Order: sequence, then C-alpha cells, then structure tokens
Amino acid sequence: MTERRLCGSLRPGDSGTAVTCYGWVHHRRDHGGLTFVDLRDHSGVVQVVINAEAAPPLREVAQRVRLEFVLRVRGSVRPRPAGSENPQLPTGAVELVAEEAEVLAAAETPPFVIGDPRPVDEQVRLRYRYLDLRRERLQRNLRARHRFLMALRAEADRLGFVEVETPTLVPSTPEGARDFLVPSRLIPGTAWALPQSPQLYKQLCMVGGLDRYMQIARCWRDEDLRADRQFEFTQLDVEMAFVDEEDVFAALEQLIGAAWGAAFGRALPRPWPRISYREALERYGSDKPDTRFGHELVTVTDVFAATGLRVFADAVAAGGAVRALRIPAGERPTRRELDGPWREAAVTHGAAGLAYLWRWADGWEGPIARHLSATELAGLGQRTGAEAGDCVCLTAGPAAVAGAALGAVRLLAARELGWIDGEVEHFLWVTEFPMFEPEPSGGVRPLHHPFTQVHADDWGKLESDPLAVRSRAYDIVCNGVEMGSGSIRITRPEQQGAIFRALGMTEAEAQSKFGFLLSAFRHGAPPHGGFAAGIDRLVMVGLREPSIREVIAFPKTQTGADPMTGAPTAVTADQLREVGLALRPEVTAVRAAAADAGAGG
Ligand code: ASP
Repeated sequence: MTERRLCGSLRPGDSGTAVTCYGWVHHRRDHGGLTFVDLRDHSGVVQVVINAEAAPPLREVAQRVRLEFVLRVRGSVRPRPAGSENPQLPTGAVELVAEEAEVLAAAETPPFVIGDPRPVDEQVRLRYRYLDLRRERLQRNLRARHRFLMALRAEADRLGFVEVETPTLVPSTPEGARDFLVPSRLIPGTAWALPQSPQLYKQLCMVGGLDRYMQIARCWRDEDLRADRQFEFTQLDVEMAFVDEEDVFAALEQLIGAAWGAAFGRALPRPWPRISYREALERYGSDKPDTRFGHELVTVTDVFAATGLRVFADAVAAGGAVRALRIPAGERPTRRELDGPWREAAVTHGAAGLAYLWRWADGWEGPIARHLSATELAGLGQRTGAEAGDCVCLTAGPAAVAGAALGAVRLLAARELGWIDGEVEHFLWVTEFPMFEPEPSGGVRPLHHPFTQVHADDWGKLESDPLAVRSRAYDIVCNGVEMGSGSIRITRPEQQGAIFRALGMTEAEAQSKFGFLLSAFRHGAPPHGGFAAGIDRLVMVGLREPSIREVIAFPKTQTGADPMTGAPTAVTADQLREVGLALRPEVTAVRAAAADAGAGG
C-alpha cells in the first residue's frame, strides 16, 4: 500500500516516496514521448508524468484521458528536471512519475474549462453548478464559509449558547415578507408556512428556560431576488434572557469577531461604533450607512430659509429639507457626470433633481449659482467647509427624500472617485429604529416586527403619534450592507396587546394568531432580546464577493429559478388533489403553453 496524498500537498521533501493520488484531469499534453497530466483535487494540482516506455495499460490511460476524467494514479515523487520547475505552483518543484493509473470515471467535454479563470456566463455556471464547484473560487468560498460556521458554533458554545432546532413547518411568521406556503394533506384547505425566521419559537425557548439559544437557521421569504437576497437564506439566530442591548451587542461582536478571524484571518476592532437611526439618516442619508469613508451630508435648510431659488423655497415651505454634500476639488465629477448618472442616482431615490455648484477663489460657479444670494452662498460655504475648487451637490424635498437621494449620490461619488478603502470592514450598530412605518394603505406597520420592545420614554405616544415611537430594535451594518437585526422584546401580555391594537388588529385576531404567545407571556416570561445575522451576506462581505450567489453552494438565479434542476417544476393534478387544491383554468392554460414551448425547444 502506498500512502494516499492530496494532489496539492506534494513537495520536494516527498521525493523518492511512493504515493497514490486521486483527482480530476486539469490539463493534459504530450511532449517528446511523455504525457503530462495535471491532476487536481481541492488542495491543488500536481504534474503526473507518463513515460512512453511505460507498460501498455498505463500508456492506454495516458492516451485516453481528457479534461475532467477522474483518475487514480500510483507513482513516485521526484524533483522536476532543472529548468522545468513551475514557481507559480506550490507543487511546482516536483512531479509524480506514474507507475499505475486507472480511469475511475470518464467525462464529457465540460461546458467551460475548470482551470480557466475567465468569467463564465452565470446561467451556464448555475446549470452546471457541480462543475462550477470544482473551480478554485467556489472551493475557497465554501471552505471559508464552513470555517465561519464552525467558529460561530464553537464560540457560541463557549459563551453558553445552546443550539436548538426549530420547526420548518410553522404558522405564518410576521417578518413583513410574503410566506412560502406548504399545503397540508391531512387538513385540506390549510397550509403551513416556511419560517421567515424562527422568531416566535426562539422567544418561546426563553419562556422555556433555555436562557441562551442559538441556531444556524434556514429561513424563507418570498421576495424579489437581488445580489444580496435569495428566497432561502441562512442566519445566525440568537436569543438571550435577562439581557439588555449591551449584552446582545457584546455577544454578537464576540461571535462574529471570532468567526471573522477564523474564516478570513482578519480581526474586527471592538467595540463596534453605534449610531442612532436618526443620526444615521442625518449624517449619511441612510439607515445602513457606509462608514468606510467620511464625506457626510450637511443640512443647510436654514441657509435657504428665505431663498429665491424655487426648488429650495418650495421644499422649505413644505417643511422639507435642503441637504448638501461637499466633493473635494478634483477633475471630477464633470458637468456631464453630474447631469447624467449622478442626477439619476438622486432621482431614483425620489428627488426632483440634483443641484450643484463649484466654489472658486473669486466666487461660485454653476447652473444655480446666480439664483442664490451672497448671504446664501456664504452660508453654504461656511456650513459645508467648501474651499476653492470643491464642488457642492444639493438635494431638496421632504426631509427623508432629500437625505436618501443625496445619500445615494454620496455612495456613487465614493465608488466613482475612489473614496472607499476596499481592504477594511466597518461594522457598526444602528440603534433606536422607529417602531412603525406608514402602511401605504393607511395606518402603520412594524418596521422590525411586532414583538419589539418600545423605547421606555415613548409608550405614551403609541396612540397619539405612533410614527414618533422609537423601538429597542438595532441593526448591524457593515460597509453599507445590512447584516442583520434584532431587538429587546416585549414580554408583558398587556404591552404586546397594545402593539397588536396599534397595528389595527382586533382582540379576536390577536388571539387567533398569537394566542399561544400571549398565553406563554402569562406563564412567567423572562425579559429577553436577540438578533439574527445573515450568514450569506457576512461571508460575501468577508470574502469581498459581489454577490451572495458566490458563497452559496446551490443558489437560485436572480429570477428565482434553478437552471440545474429545472425547479420550480409543474405539479401534477394528483399531487394537487391530495392537498385539496386545483389550478385555475387560466393557470392551467399558461402551464400548458409553457410545456409546449419546452417540448418544442
Ligand atoms: N427575527 C428577526 C429577523 O429575522 C431577528 C430578530 O429580531 O431576532 O430579522
């Protein structure tokens, strides 16, 4: 028996030893009577040499193999001949001289070459995900994700957390997204939901005396997909009894910090900065501020209190705001950029436009400059700190819109003008979120979820001014991406009832939906709070990948389909009948047309 070794592990010190390697054919070439096969496994590649004088079965293998054939090779390790070493490769100083080789599996010509680093169309990558997984990028990413999860669990265990698996067939959880439904066969006409989060179960764990709960939990939300959102995602779900914000923050910083170090080899400085929701909007125009760079927004509404410039005057008169962003002197942005993509960024976020002007030693220049009074210009210069050569961008409108629009311009400016240091992570806590947001159809809905505790000073506003009620909810934000959220919870049945009422729920509705929770709260509920952090997003940012699809083994496309399995697939009439359902005729027609198109194509 020879020793089994990973392809990427062989080094000059192994010379003279007999080894067996298993792997895929990464590359094959014939050269002066020798065949060279680069054999690859997850650890790397080793060069296998097959001599022309080798025994016939070995020569036959040498001739037969193609890219991605699976081989077993037994041979001896030797230094490569002088001058033929490959310093790019960790195994580049040695080669494996084959004495025996066996084809364990043949392979069709792959749709893309595994070792070729050039980008491959994502549809093709997802259709052949099992081949994509062989590539270095996904091997690296999934292994880093594994280390991340292992470290999270180990650290959680060290901190006294208990991992509890909560069910995946649940009643609908109100996290604000659409549920995935699973029709029930035994009780036709009813359905389970897949959990949008284990929220109520983890709270019930607290009532159950579990004290510190954690779970690497799968969650499902039927929402439109984006680069950082999939239907199903994984979160680090945590709940703790007898805590306040400080305890939750400390635990999360510890957990994520430990996993970050283990998976990405970088330390996260602690404690993470904190900023209130209000201040985040004020300074960055966003509740998920990218704090890797400064360039904060400035409110200049009062400077334009009596302005003659119509757009600003209208905003001021309507109780809105004028916000400014100083861009330090440089060749850019050009007028064309400001009127093009920069304006576009502001307009996409609801602003009517983007105003801009430059400050020079002898005055101001730009389309709006001549409409502003000397006092206004002086005020603008003083408040923004603009110096000669600087450009100042402005938005005006309802306060939230002016802020969000200029916040978007700030992010664009950062990307375009190179303000971002891509080598750092800026984690921070955003705190004191409002309890509610306006419901488009009237009334209010929870910004986080209805189990969030209200800020102690704000219970009195619940009926009179619900939108002014602050909550004890908090988010983790990193580099402008929301990484997760949590809150200190309500645990008194009468307080929970008051929130349900504020949301327009009748007593009977509250009982039928959440009677079990209210009942639990009447049986001795410890004060508690928790958090859920998105694993996919954390690993994406940690690996500096542009999309969570790069850190998920089998993701869906942006339209929510799986090109590999063809899912979601049609259901048969029998399957539907069993769960008491039938398709509406117009749906049947659409399905039939799709099936025809599929058969024809
Ligand atoms: N259940 C919440 C979520 O998934 C997190 C929490 O409040 O703990 O966003």
